Amino acid sequence: MNKGIYFYVTISTDPEGYHLLHRKECKRLPVKEDMVFIGTLYNLNQALSTARINFKKVKPCIKCCIRYSAPIIRETVRPVLHFPQKMI
Ligand SMILES: [Zn+2]
Repeated sequence: MNKGIYFYVTISTDPEGYHLLHRKECKRLPVKEDMVFIGTLYNLNQALSTARINFKKVKPCIKCCIRYSAPIIRETVRPVLHFPQKMI
């Protein structure tokens, strides 16, 4: 039997502008005031697409979402070159 999972999205974002998707039982859940309940959903994919209707950039919490499901997000990692800017 598949039971729905309660999913929440944080209102605040990380430094890159992403809202985090959490399951109800996550130990890293932020304070209530910083969360939006998006629904009772059956899997991470469904939760992500629902979250993305309301929030442009959403990524699943590593603690509660990634850990319990196969990684579905392939984020392309772009190397950033950090050259010290020389003041001449
Ligand atoms: Zn979480």
